[in-house]
Amino acid sequence: MSKSAQTNSGTAIIAGGGIGGLTAALALERRGIPSVVLEKSPQFGEIGAGIQLGPNAFHVFDALGIGETARRTAVFIEQARLMDALTGEEITHIDLGGAFRARFRNPYAVVHRGDLYVVLLQACQRSELVILRAGCDVVSYRQNESDVQVRLSSGEAVSGALLVGADGLWSAVRKQVVGDGPPRVSGHTTYRSVIPTGAMPEDLRWNAATLWAGPKCHIVHYPLSGWKLFNLVLTCQNDAPEPVAGQPVPREEVYRGFAHVHPRIRKIIEHGKDWKLWVLCDRDPVENWVDGRVALLGDAAHPMLQYMAQGACLAMEDALCLARMLEAHPRDIPGALQAYCNRRLVRTTRVQLMARAVGEHIYHPSGAHARVRNSIMSAKSSQDWYEELSWLYGEEGTM
Ligand SMILES: Cc1cc2nc3c(=O)[nH]c(=O)nc-3n(C[C@H](O)[C@H](O)[C@H](O)COP(=O)(O)OP(=O)(O)OC[C@H]3O[C@@H](n4cnc5c(N)ncnc54)[C@H](O)[C@@H]3O)c2cc1C
Repeated sequence: MSKSAQTNSGTAIIAGGGIGGLTAALALERRGIPSVVLEKSPQFGEIGAGIQLGPNAFHVFDALGIGETARRTAVFIEQARLMDALTGEEITHIDLGGAFRARFRNPYAVVHRGDLYVVLLQACQRSELVILRAGCDVVSYRQNESDVQVRLSSGEAVSGALLVGADGLWSAVRKQVVGDGPPRVSGHTTYRSVIPTGAMPEDLRWNAATLWAGPKCHIVHYPLSGWKLFNLVLTCQNDAPEPVAGQPVPREEVYRGFAHVHPRIRKIIEHGKDWKLWVLCDRDPVENWVDGRVALLGDAAHPMLQYMAQGACLAMEDALCLARMLEAHPRDIPGALQAYCNRRLVRTTRVQLMARAVGEHIYHPSGAHARVRNSIMSAKSSQDWYEELSWLYGEEGTM
């Protein structure tokens, strides 16, 4: 049977072919539900470099039967380290080795986004039930009691049984479902670069996701792609007023926000090349992301600052939950979508809010505020952290 561009009344339309949209297509496929993924870009792909994946992401991969393939793309780091960017000293660390894996039944890992994306894309391409269409810009939808009609900017209409808005931070589908205007500009600017491992100062080539926390700034680095590369992510709270995504930026501008940090870290920054800039945005949580046969997923539903390293992990959990609810309520699509939203709301909102709080109280404080942070955080053992994070890294998100 060849794949057809026709959709039918049982087909799910997915707006957006990012990590969330492709995972949704795959999760639906595993339950025999066909889908068409409409991606705005001229081709399917993922920009950006590294991404951290908590064990909860691997619970999703396992549930979708791609756990082993996904593990092959990953570097399994041994620690998450929090360092003081002014003194250069460690504040605390979490061991992510055997005890962590035994506790959460899956590892903590870092992967190249492109490698992860290919795992999802190839699984979709292999399926007869998933149609992938690039160059399709979803503009709006209309629905009645039996189906949804999606309008593209080309004027084409695509019909299906339901619509999943997985179209990211600037979601066109959200405009209609929630209508809460543009995202909130956080005023935090992130600079990203990837360097060869040889360019990373030798004494900092740690098998760890390392975060250096300083006044109004922080720096993250970790190894990638079988240790060939190091991912550098620098963030500066500089009240940038406009949203920006992936714009090239001269290195002098990057240095400016980090002149006050320990020389050991400035050495890392010097090695960065081809820096790109993002001005981070999120949204205030809302209580509902469903409108009849239309539901939001991932960043379209609950965009967050990256400070919990969970946006993609939660988008994939959403996808699995959505497919499970549709399987559980085969004759009641609006009911299934509402059940999905109800299940996901508290967990995703909790991470959205925590991401903001972590930025304020852990990553960017100065003076006495930073000393309180150091005192609280340094008193915790890895076991304490496992307890604190068990709601997030355990199997709750895939139940
Ligand atoms: C600096 C940074 C670091 C991060 N680090 C981590 C991390 O370590 N761990 C983690 O889990 N998360 C991380 N995240 C968050 C993560 O990248 C996102 O949460 C995740 O990519 C969201 O996936 P998504 O599929 O919902 O949206 P997106 O990845 O934004 O995908 C949306 C897709 O929809 C398409 N689209 C947009 N509009 C339309 C339209 N109108 N019609 C059709 N298609 C459309 C887009 O082209 C895109 O392909 C980080 C984010 C940033 C900015």
